[in-house]
Amino acid sequence: MELSSLVACHECDLLHRVASLPHGAAARCTRCGAVLYREKRESLDRSLALAVAGLILFILVNAFPLLALKLGGNVKQASLITGVKELYAQGWPELAVVVLFTSVVIPVVYLLGMISILFPLKLNRVPSYLPAVFRLVRSLQPWGMMEVFMLGILVSIVKLMKMATIVPGVSLYCFAVLIFIMAGAIASLDPRVVWERLE
Ligand SMILES: [Zn+2]
Repeated sequence: MELSSLVACHECDLLHRVASLPHGAAARCTRCGAVLYREKRESLDRSLALAVAGLILFILVNAFPLLALKLGGNVKQASLITGVKELYAQGWPELAVVVLFTSVVIPVVYLLGMISILFPLKLNRVPSYLPAVFRLVRSLQPWGMMEVFMLGILVSIVKLMKMATIVPGVSLYCFAVLIFIMAGAIASLDPRVVWERLE
């Protein structure tokens, strides 16, 4: 038996031989019942669907106002990006950069990276950029959950500054859903499925 055809249970370390599965099925440990691996096509499809949904939500987050800024006696509704610019303009450049990276740059790079990998794989193509982009996407994963913290920081800062309030509208709701979609996209993608395609 080849070593590559064996898989160890991540719960109890019992070794199992890898077998092909019917569509949508999962292989479970014979001793403790933990999921060993899932049918591969399903993992890719679900991750791709979540990444596309995430990108649409991200566009909605930025297309609708998230903040109501009080500027010179006027209240102006502003998007997340405008909020970042305003933080910068009001003398909070470090905070503006942190919010920009965690709420805009990292989610966009992550979602576009996932789609640029998973869409060709779905069509049974392996693009030459795949290893580099996949490594980048994997390295960004711990940052995905940073949005949760950043939303909290953003809320407290704008309250503190007395210059803006959060608009409870489309943008905020999409932002909240996006956090869960990002977590789901990360959880549903089995990296072994992608690396196996490279062999
Ligand atoms: Zn087990």
